[in-house]
Amino acid sequence: MALVVQKFGGTSVADPERIRSVADHVARTRRKGDDVIVVVSAMGKETDELIRLAEEVSSVQPTREMDMLLTVGERKTTALLCMALADLGVEAESFTGSQAGIITDTAHTRAKIVDVKPDRIRECLEAGKVAVVAGFQGMSTDRQITTFGRGGSDNTAVALAYSLGGDSFEKYSDVPGIFTADPRVVPNARKIHVISTEEMLEIAATGSGVLMFRAVEFARNHGIRIHVRSSFSWEPGTWVVPEAELESDMEQPIIAAVTHDTSEAKVTVARVPDRPGIAARLFRTLADGGVNLDMIVQNVSHDGTTDISFTVPKTDLPAALEACESHRGEFGAAEVVADDGIAKVSVVGAGMKSHPGVSATMFETLAANEINIEMISTSPIRITCVVRLERVEDAVQCLHEAFDLGSS
Ligand code: ASP
Ligand code: MG
Repeated sequence: MALVVQKFGGTSVADPERIRSVADHVARTRRKGDDVIVVVSAMGKETDELIRLAEEVSSVQPTREMDMLLTVGERKTTALLCMALADLGVEAESFTGSQAGIITDTAHTRAKIVDVKPDRIRECLEAGKVAVVAGFQGMSTDRQITTFGRGGSDNTAVALAYSLGGDSFEKYSDVPGIFTADPRVVPNARKIHVISTEEMLEIAATGSGVLMFRAVEFARNHGIRIHVRSSFSWEPGTWVVPEAELESDMEQPIIAAVTHDTSEAKVTVARVPDRPGIAARLFRTLADGGVNLDMIVQNVSHDGTTDISFTVPKTDLPAALEACESHRGEFGAAEVVADDGIAKVSVVGAGMKSHPGVSATMFETLAANEINIEMISTSPIRITCVVRLERVEDAVQCLHEAFDLGSS
């Protein structure tokens, strides 16, 4: 008997009809004789709605109370799904994250799972029932209710699969898989059948919201495979598997996908003295201000001064500017310039480790389309360029074409 873990996102359980259709799918899976754990998100836009309520009630939202509030969303789905399963004659039991034994650190609204003690889930499965678990939540080491941050239900699924000896989980949402580019931008983007967790990590980090970065990281660390698929078509989707499983596959393309991200802004701290300690002080100030940094570039020095530019999520821009401006005298910077008219475009592919020329092709393609590159960063399997926001879709389209990723 295998263990099957199925996770359903918000759109998959958005209304009573969709919940019944999920129950039908779970019932079929159960009737094959496997042990089944189902992890659910809050219905549709419920989490947004709860956040809106909180904002209407108060200008301050203590994070402990936010967690207490937001966990209600997924909890509601678990009970409703169990009722829909009962209607089909399938025995099921609902569990909050805390009941499921998901133990987290104490960071409210962005907690990390530190341990899983799934005794009650195990008992439920042994009794022949389906376990339906509320995603995105747990109980902290100091026994408070916590949540993992937006999109965090994937973490529950991967952690439960691992702790109960499973080797994979199925992630159902309204997208049929991972694509070679965002199909809204590139109409002939292809669904990828299999991709490595390493590549998926880069894709999750550079723009695709399909899988939560931390869930992929957990999957990579523990060798868990993820099947990303649609609860609307129920067709096979994309398998995300350990890199070693793909190594001997000669069919693997050099580039797996082109991604883009329009959620960041650029800050330039202009003409700071080019001597040891300045960058250290600048970035310590930003860290103390709670600013999340992404790319960092320091320009060649002229007359003993240099420009330092970095990108941050647009939501962190006010904090970044505040930190830079209030300490500008201390860094000796002439000015601090914010630019929210930028976007990132990336090419990701494990093949670039062994094939030279990927960056040359990327830069030549952007040049031929007169798209200026403002910043560049790389990892062993990714190249990212910052370009003007209004050119990013053109950039994605021409790169997708240049690396021949489309279906014909
Ligand atoms: N309901 C939460 C959110 O919308 C968690 C999740 O869906 O994974 O962010
Ligand atoms: Mg959601």
